[in-house]
Amino acid sequence: MDKLPTSKPSICRVALDTPLRRTFDYRIEADRAAPPLGSRVSVPFGRRQLVGVAISLESESEVDESKLKSISRTLDPEPTFDAPLLKLLRWATEYYHHPIGEVIAAALPKLLREGAPLVSQTEYWAATDAGIAALAAGEPKRAPKRRELLERLVAAGTRGLDVVELNEQLPGWREAAKALAKQEWLISGSRDIFFEPSKPVIAENSTSTDIRPELSAQQRQVLEAMQSSGVTRYHAWLLHGVTGSGKTEVYLRLAEQQLQAGRRVLVLVPEIGLTPQLVGRFARRFPQTPLAVLHSGLTDSERLTAWRAAHRGHAQLVIGTRSAVFAPIPSLGIIIVDEEHDSSFKQQEGGFRYSARDLALVRAHLLDIPIVLGSATPSLESLHNAASGRLTRLSLPDRAASASPPTLRLVDLRQERVHAGLSTTAVSAIQRHLAADGQVLVYINRRGYAPTLACTACGWVAPCQSCDARMTVYRQAARLRCHHCGADRDLPRQCPQCGYAVKTVGQGTERIEESLAETFPGVGIARLDRDVVRRSDELEAVVARMSGGEAKILVGTQMVAKGHDFPSLTLVVVLNADQGLFSTDFRAAERLAQTIVQVAGRAGRASRPGEVLIQTEYPEHPLLSGLLTGGYDAFASAALEERRSAAWPPFSRLAALRASATEAETAIQFLEAARRATRTLNPGAVRLLGPAPAAMARRADRHHAQLLLESADRGALHRLLDQWLPAVEALPEARRVRWALDVDPLELF
Ligand code: ADP
Ligand code: ZN
Ligand code: ZN
Repeated sequence: MDKLPTSKPSICRVALDTPLRRTFDYRIEADRAAPPLGSRVSVPFGRRQLVGVAISLESESEVDESKLKSISRTLDPEPTFDAPLLKLLRWATEYYHHPIGEVIAAALPKLLREGAPLVSQTEYWAATDAGIAALAAGEPKRAPKRRELLERLVAAGTRGLDVVELNEQLPGWREAAKALAKQEWLISGSRDIFFEPSKPVIAENSTSTDIRPELSAQQRQVLEAMQSSGVTRYHAWLLHGVTGSGKTEVYLRLAEQQLQAGRRVLVLVPEIGLTPQLVGRFARRFPQTPLAVLHSGLTDSERLTAWRAAHRGHAQLVIGTRSAVFAPIPSLGIIIVDEEHDSSFKQQEGGFRYSARDLALVRAHLLDIPIVLGSATPSLESLHNAASGRLTRLSLPDRAASASPPTLRLVDLRQERVHAGLSTTAVSAIQRHLAADGQVLVYINRRGYAPTLACTACGWVAPCQSCDARMTVYRQAARLRCHHCGADRDLPRQCPQCGYAVKTVGQGTERIEESLAETFPGVGIARLDRDVVRRSDELEAVVARMSGGEAKILVGTQMVAKGHDFPSLTLVVVLNADQGLFSTDFRAAERLAQTIVQVAGRAGRASRPGEVLIQTEYPEHPLLSGLLTGGYDAFASAALEERRSAAWPPFSRLAALRASATEAETAIQFLEAARRATRTLNPGAVRLLGPAPAAMARRADRHHAQLLLESADRGALHRLLDQWLPAVEALPEARRVRWALDVDPLELF
């Protein structure tokens, strides 16, 4: 809590986008009003002028006041961040041990960081009652331009038209407008830019109108349970519903309830490109409700527009990816986090590495509003939180409508003839489903044509020059590309080492697409992966080919695992389940199980039963056999037991200090020095592991390494981090590396 200033505050504490772990004090000139807390201010900083955010008012400064500079200007007439949001940002600063200025910068659209106005106004013109009467009386005569302008403005009603619209509709309108205004037939003024609700990312099928179904008994139970503990106070729910169980319908009902009560709704989704249908479903269900969509594919000005719409309260529904957890939304009534297990909710790059799901829980708590985390495959963290009572678990165990769960079967690759990655069993199953007019999904976790290009004679394989990785073959484009650094070169025809022929090894989506086209000539095949989907309209095209039935087989990476609902899709083939079975990352098994269950969930969504084939060389592996016999629940309880006995999260807390440098030694030396710096701090219950090079140590010509901190005691870990990080920052070795702290890291590479 800030202490209340006793005299008139003369000092404003400002957060600035610098890597320094502190705020900066500025003087408020005697004749000026103090900036509203949470508003942006322009301040001198060194020789520059920076945009910062006022976070507290003080009556005195720790700095000699004669040395303080003054605030140059308050940029916002009202707070950019309201008090609860400012509290959330401070909470994040402490929990992630990250400089407050950078945390706040991450929460602001770029253009606002650069000083763009918070509210933008536009000039508009409208017809007066006198103008309407004049037009009805056939005025103005012999002045076609004026007449046309008046006609248009009368037609536009009380809202009138803004300058952009007038320029578009009637170039050269201004002369006419001035003349009409003299006769008092028009008025002009300025107002907030009219908010155009975001268009859904994916155009809706023309056939799909919204049906608001009768709730199933299970859905009713879930909603009643939520009702019974009140819809206006903090309560955190884990909605575990199998794919197709009608979770989205539950979200829609919850949203409807809040909207009717005049409150706003925030829905967080994984990468927007992966959940195309959700936005469309909200837009269809609430066609009159302004909707703002915030995701990484927006231009800076689109982002600003959507953000402003949220801030002004124009948008009643805000749907967004990770950083939308910071979107300012007045009278927020509920937060819904869809696919809560998805790793894209965790920012894993850059300096400020936060979990949007975890921050959403904190935000709901600060606002005292309900929050729903939904998933078909909840994270082990959330299941653990449900077991300990922090989340209330509700289940939708059956599919909605008439759909029944798909049957899962393993295909033992050791006993099968396999051609280009496809087993005979898979090929004949595809044939069978196509003949029955079904659609097929083939899942493979690799894009490109093949993961490796190798020499047939000397054993050379095409390496990336900048990474400890092989180049991926792109055959259609005749390129070699590195998925880790983006390197891109010609596909060699011969071995650069010995001149013999080269061949591709293994399969990616492009290769599977090709071999399916050979095996099933004349059958429409679509492909979905990050290479296809550079822009969202290409995703749209692929989805349309499948929904329209022109494509019968869809080949894709995890992009196909989420959100799509193709009613005729009856068969799913998982080509390579084995990646992830033997990984050193303790989360690999969880991710694999989630992917398999999610992909399998694409089969048999409507009335026709679904079938799922999982190709593997390890059919007796406990993860696969467990998943088959006991489903995700059985897998999750076994996996949680393993985590408990190994004392991994959620039974302990982790933080990773990550470093990279152009020399491997430099990164390790920094981490060793950082480790030594813990000695004087009494790490107590905190265990230090490493430093160790990352599994893929060299990426884009930098060597990566990490030091892991682990403790069963969250408090102890955070106390150590608090004391330790200033010391780490001050290390001379720190200047020679890039480093970042990752609290609750997801990937241990
Ligand atoms: P989830 O989000 O759990 O995957 P959805 O909400 O998308 O599930 O529902 C799956 C399918 O079932 C959708 O086609 C949806 O329209 C339909 N559905 C959901 N609830 C009902 C219901 N109560 N009655 C009939 N159909 C429903
Ligand atoms: Zn060779
Ligand atoms: Zn590379």
